Amino acid sequence: MSDGTTSVPLLDVARGNTPLREAFLEALQEVVDSGRFLFGPDVTQLEEEIASFSQVDHAIGCASGSDALLLALLALNIGPGDEVIVPSFTFFASVSCITRVGATPVFVDIRPDTFNVDPAAIEAAITPRTKAIIPVHLFGQCAEIDRICKTAAQHNIPVIEDAAQSIGAAYHSRPAGSWGTVGCFSFYPTKNLGGMGDGGMLSANDPATADRLRLFAGHGMRPRYYHQVVGINSRLDSFQAAVLRVKFAQLPEAIRKRQANADRYSRLLKDVVDSDQIQSPVASENSYHVWNQYSIRVGGGRRDALRAFLSERNIGTEIYYPIPVHKQECYRNESFAKVSLPETDAACAEILNLPMFPELTEAEQQTVVKQIGEFYQQAGRVAA
Ligand SMILES: *Cc1c(COP(=O)(O)O)cnc(C)c1O
Repeated sequence: MSDGTTSVPLLDVARGNTPLREAFLEALQEVVDSGRFLFGPDVTQLEEEIASFSQVDHAIGCASGSDALLLALLALNIGPGDEVIVPSFTFFASVSCITRVGATPVFVDIRPDTFNVDPAAIEAAITPRTKAIIPVHLFGQCAEIDRICKTAAQHNIPVIEDAAQSIGAAYHSRPAGSWGTVGCFSFYPTKNLGGMGDGGMLSANDPATADRLRLFAGHGMRPRYYHQVVGINSRLDSFQAAVLRVKFAQLPEAIRKRQANADRYSRLLKDVVDSDQIQSPVASENSYHVWNQYSIRVGGGRRDALRAFLSERNIGTEIYYPIPVHKQECYRNESFAKVSLPETDAACAEILNLPMFPELTEAEQQTVVKQIGEFYQQAGRVAA
């Protein structure tokens, strides 16, 4: 721009990957030379590393976070006639796994401060047909998973943690993915541990559950060409695992940088806007937040105008999520029309995700916040 504004990308994966280029090439070359493109040693080693990091007994690689969720439901034998409690303010995959197996999603509302599923709403939604609960650890912060697991245990219902956005997060110092019956992680490139393509991981403490997850991920085949159950083909390949192991070594440091960036945004924003204009995201005192997203709430119906203003100045933003899952076109024929989730609707109307990644610079954050301040100054002048 002519006024000297520098552009700020929503996400720049190259900044994290470029310094690791040699390490990636070396790791990939080893896979090329080994010829073990599936079930290679990098896959097993990554599974062990993530199990240890997330304090779970078993971790099982699979093709994506979406497949992890689907496999969890398949392994827990959930299907037609079963109800699964899930938030509607989430990425589509948290819900599509449920309808994909023929079960019924029971949508519950979120808490306005953290955007995470409301445990009281979960308690109210339990029926004799409830066969699983899928809390989503949204934006890098755990849902109130202690209370959710306690409720679930009282009713003997398994919990499937959607930790796709929250590897390394914790609640009361216990990691995401270690609380429930099954944990689901994603290595989609925008996630905190992002690969160079698709990838996912399942976690479980119970050995029988872990064994069933692996069985379903491999066509239900055991031994070779004898199929015990109708599974799917969902594998983490050796190339992805090799890349992910290089990045995994950097994950704690990357998380610390995200946390520093989140603190800085909140400090800077306080100086330029009032809390009725913009609410900074809230980290619950019990949680170790890993900031996959920095999500502000824009009040006064001004979210889209602010986003357009920032976009004109080459500042990347995104809306996660513009529409609740239960209102998606593909679910229009379902019986979700009477579902009422006021906090979910409000979040969809007000949320705005600012640029957030470990290598985002202080100067870039200052630019983002300065432009937000200017939007309100101009808007103030127009209003006056
Ligand atoms: C990314 C994501 C998924 C799906 O992960 P993929 O690896 O992209 O299939 C599931 N749930 C949530 C909340 C996500 O953000």
